Formats: sequence, structure tokens, C-alpha cells
Amino acid sequence: MLAMPSWTDKKLGTMKRVALWLIQEVGPGSIFTKEQLRAAFDGVSQIDRRMRELRDYEWQIDTNREDSTLESWEHRFVRQGLPVWEPGVANRKAAEAISASQRRTVLMEDNYLCRSCGIGIGEAYSDGYGTTSQLDIARRQVTLPSGDKEVQLVTECNRCRVGGRDVVSDLRTLTAALERLSAYERKMLSAWIEQDSRSFNDVEKLWGLYRTLPTPARNQFRSMLLQP
Ligand SMILES: [Zn+2]
Repeated sequence: MLAMPSWTDKKLGTMKRVALWLIQEVGPGSIFTKEQLRAAFDGVSQIDRRMRELRDYEWQIDTNREDSTLESWEHRFVRQGLPVWEPGVANRKAAEAISASQRRTVLMEDNYLCRSCGIGIGEAYSDGYGTTSQLDIARRQVTLPSGDKEVQLVTECNRCRVGGRDVVSDLRTLTAALERLSAYERKMLSAWIEQDSRSFNDVEKLWGLYRTLPTPARNQFRSMLLQP
């Protein structure tokens, strides 16, 4: 884990410094005024725009359009997004707007499913509020097996995007777990990956059926299993 630099470090770019200022001086959930932002970055041109650019990195900064309790000169720092000051997070490539063709490709590759909750396009959420999902493309920070960090595009629904889930993917955790799998388990996992959905194998089907049995039948099955 890298130490967080100070927002006063002038070697950093303005957007990175604004991100650090929000964390170190404002604090998540707090309100700040345009005046305070301009005073902190005295003489820096287009400071409002630099702040808005943070939204491309999943930072949530509300105005009175999103939050009617705010005055027109106020903002609320709702949620921290990607750590833009870390190397590789806010490089030029990541900062480029996501093009229409990139969107289509990511949606297609993700099978038109939210990769955080699994909901499809225009499907109703199961909470009964009757709202349906909209899928959008988000930037996700992924830690590679080498430890390097990379920003990758992923499909997420409107609810997961706004819901404040701080998803950081670390491939090292997955690699470590993968090494503990047996050849059989690896084969099963590859099949799920190919279908992009989980199928149930014979063991799981048996487990499901076993659980529905009355107690005497469960006991009988159990003894059949232990003394074949
Ligand atoms: Zn979702």
C-alpha cells in the first residue's frame, strides 16, 4: 500500500490534488463551497472542471441537481472513487472518454450482465420496487498477479454504480485460490466460465435432493454414503 501524498504537493496534477484535498480537507459526506475550492487552488485555471473530471473515476460529487438540500454554490463530496494519485490509475489512456464502440464491445464481452450483481439489461430488481436496470460501463481497478495496478472497463448496472460499492479487484487473491483447486474443480470452473453461468454437477444435485428428504430418508442416504 502506497502512502497517500499530501494535496499540497505541487508536483501532482491538479485533478489528483483536488482528489486529495477532498479526502484530507473536506472528508466524505461533507459539504464544500465553490469559494473554498477556488481559495485552496488559488490561481489554478478551470478548477471546477478538474474537479468534475474526478467523476470519470467513480468519484461522486453532488451539486444541487443531484441533492436538492444543497445551495447552488455548494457541493457535497459523497464518495471517494479510484485512487487517481496512484501510478497508472489516471494515465492518459484511462482518462480518455469511453467511445461508443468501446461501450458496445465491453457490453458484448460481459454478456450484457452487470458484473457486480449479475442483473441483465432492463431487468426488474428483486426488491419489489419495480425499478429496472440500466447497464453502463464503469472503470474498475484491477491488481494484476505481478502486483501492478490497471484500470479496466466493466459493465455495471446503475444501482451498483451509485450504490457505493467500493469494488477493487485483486487477481492475486484469485490466483492463490486457483492454486488450491484440484484438477476436477478446475475443469468444473472452466465449464462455468465457458458458459458464463454456473451449472450444477452431480454432487450438488444430490445435495439439493438430499436436503429435501424427510429425516429417516436422510439418515438412510447418509448411511449409504458412509458404508457403500
Ligand atoms: Zn448491478
